[in-house]
Amino acid sequence: AKRSGKNAWRFCEAKSQLIAYENMLLRRDLREAVERGELALHYQPLVDAQCGCVVSFEALLRWTSSTYGVVPPSRFIPLAEESDMILGIGKWVLEESCRFIHKLAAMGNEDIHVSVNVSPRQLAADDFVALVRETIDREGINPKQLEIEITENVLITSMEESTRRLSELRAIGVRLSLDDFGTGYSSLTYLRSLPVGTLKLDKSFIDQILSDVRQLQFISSIINMAHVLGLAVVAEGVETEEQLEKLVECQCDFIQGYVFSRPVTEKEALLFLDW
Ligand code: C2E
Ligand code: CA
Ligand code: CA
Ligand code: CA
Repeated sequence: AKRSGKNAWRFCEAKSQLIAYENMLLRRDLREAVERGELALHYQPLVDAQCGCVVSFEALLRWTSSTYGVVPPSRFIPLAEESDMILGIGKWVLEESCRFIHKLAAMGNEDIHVSVNVSPRQLAADDFVALVRETIDREGINPKQLEIEITENVLITSMEESTRRLSELRAIGVRLSLDDFGTGYSSLTYLRSLPVGTLKLDKSFIDQILSDVRQLQFISSIINMAHVLGLAVVAEGVETEEQLEKLVECQCDFIQGYVFSRPVTEKEALLFLDW
């Protein structure tokens, strides 16, 4: 038993070494992904739960590596977030999204907004607010068409500093939303002091919505409380008509998920606006 235990340990060690090696290779390629033009943004529509019309898109990063093929965000974003690499990538995402917003506005879609995911390290960078302002100015877009999605993680290290940054962004006129609500140290208490306008209910909440009446009541209460606080609510990862129906009953404001569309290319995203 002792012997096999040792082997198992060796196997685990070998496996973790392999993962470390893979991470090293991916990191090396990711560093050049922006310059090589290997990154792309896909856009997933968010739909108004009442009228069923598209109100915004979430920009989601895609990496097609010349060496490794398609690498999912769950694999490479954490690697980028470990270092300053996320700053360069994040800057590209912001520029690309603002370029898309410019296009939307030029086509007459001035009410549609685009949301961008921002990592804690980006928000913590001293020049982040200036970067956002400059990018908006350079693309000549209305700041109201840009939304920044942050997660609760940004609050863990420095609640005060983060809140100040977010207020500065709000002052520029960009929208703010709190992403993945329900996965971390979600608290409705600090929601009151955060300058965000939208709360995004995590997919893990939505997944349980049909299995359990109490879960449905729980989500319904969160939506009610968010409304009391003046926040709009988005349900993420909605996959079925049944889930959609329940969420509409619960007064959820916006729906995002495969039930309407997966993230699509910019070209395909524009088709949502043509009918
Ligand atoms: P997220 O911000 O929570 O984004 C939503 C994720 O849920 C996306 O995964 C989206 O494709 C997926 N999704 C949407 N609807 C459904 C559904 O109905 N069913 C299922 N199963 N999934 C659905 P994706 O694109 O793989 O992105 C994963 C995560 O990577 C994102 O989670 C976000 O945290 C991060 N990410 C993506 N793009 C960026 C970026 O540009 N910057 C940063 N910092 N993070 C990003
Ligand atoms: Ca998000
Ligand atoms: Ca999310
Ligand atoms: Ca998520």
